[in-house]
Amino acid sequence: MNDTITAISTALGVGAISIIRVSGKDAIKIVNGITKRKKLDKVESHTINYDYIVDGDNVIDEVLISVMKAPRTFTMEDVVEINAHGGISTTNYILKLLLKNGCRLAEPGEFTKRAFLNGRIDLTEAEGVMDLINAKTDKSHKLAINQLNGKTSNLIKELRQDIIEILANIEVNIDYPEYEDIVDLKTKDIGPKMDNLLKKINKILNDSNNAILINDGIKTSIIGKPNVGKSSLLNRLLNEDKAIVTDIEGTTRDIVEGKISLDGLLLNIIDTAGIRETDNLVESIGVKKSLELIDNSDLILYVLNNNTELSDSEKEILDKLKDKNYIIVINKSDLPNKLTLPEGIKNVVQISALNDTGIDELKAKIKEIYNLEEIEVEDMTYLSNARSIALIEEAKNLLEEANKNIESDIPVDMVEIDIKEAWSKLGEIIGETYQEELIDQLFSQFCLGK
Ligand code: GDP
Repeated sequence: MNDTITAISTALGVGAISIIRVSGKDAIKIVNGITKRKKLDKVESHTINYDYIVDGDNVIDEVLISVMKAPRTFTMEDVVEINAHGGISTTNYILKLLLKNGCRLAEPGEFTKRAFLNGRIDLTEAEGVMDLINAKTDKSHKLAINQLNGKTSNLIKELRQDIIEILANIEVNIDYPEYEDIVDLKTKDIGPKMDNLLKKINKILNDSNNAILINDGIKTSIIGKPNVGKSSLLNRLLNEDKAIVTDIEGTTRDIVEGKISLDGLLLNIIDTAGIRETDNLVESIGVKKSLELIDNSDLILYVLNNNTELSDSEKEILDKLKDKNYIIVINKSDLPNKLTLPEGIKNVVQISALNDTGIDELKAKIKEIYNLEEIEVEDMTYLSNARSIALIEEAKNLLEEANKNIESDIPVDMVEIDIKEAWSKLGEIIGETYQEELIDQLFSQFCLGK
């Protein structure tokens, strides 16, 4: 962290301007060294300065240079930004000059990492920065802003505060067992406090799962027996939607056949080619493949043929769908009806892929299942990545365990271990878990008068 880092902050290509950012204790000195006027060490903080970048006697570019002195900067270090003309060779030339004069090339995300290490932002806010850069829809953009402005971190801090209060109650109990009135953990403060805490955690988990759907899209499989019309349906869905999102590397591990955006709801249709290949094979292989897809998808569009009776294997698959998000798509409704569904099957839509009827109803059904229109994005506080979600889930499990133990009269110091662990897990989410901190906080908040 003692060195001065630099990187081109704008996308590399031909544009009107490009920005080269420098951060670190020598930022002003190094940039000043490659300017013509050499006045940057005397200017006020947070000013924009007109100058030229020079390499010896050669003028490289006419530029505007922002000088921002620590600590009121993104990294909390001295930051200098050079607004150069946006050609690739000029921008690279300036970058090379900076490297020659004492800067180190920044690693990806290193400016944000410094902002975190210097205490300017916490981990969830840093993740918010990343999400904002990667946001693909209006909804995901709004979600990222919520995270960036600290809403998520504040909530995590609030949860940890709740835990501290619960722990303080327990400490009182251990240190002053003679006070009978605070011994009863179950009925006094702790039980209700725990319930409240768990309720908040469940809300965050729920919001987070919805956020993942908004950001990454819904893994959707179209399954069904050969010739029921799966490809015809896929083509209808893809062709009708003009806003097909291009495949972006790394967004999903599955092979995506196509992406469909339904009013901000992104469907990733995952590759069902495996099933089509089994056309000529025994049906059981098709069933096995379908079951695998059911397990690996968020949403299943199960296509049946209106013109044939339900087969045994189809009944088997219907049975397996019960615990998933599914839609039964009865295709070929232009042909005479020979299909009857068993009792209790919900989410049925009739279509004709051939005549293009029922597709809108199908889309409406998908939106209804996910109900995303109802979600007020502004109110959502969420965790955007698997790391944070796994941590909050661990915290939840620990607290549930503690809650159970409180109820079954396990000694409080045993219960305390789980609660402290949950506190640490939440701290890892925002990147600030230290056991000493727990102790300090306990003492600073709950002076017991001794
Ligand atoms: P897949 O094997 O499930 O992918 O089925 P296809 O989409 O290849 O369709 C199989 C056959 O059914 C093709 O000949 C289609 O033209 C036909 N087909 C698809 N949808 C309909 C429909 O809604 N009505 C009728 N009558 N035929 C359809």
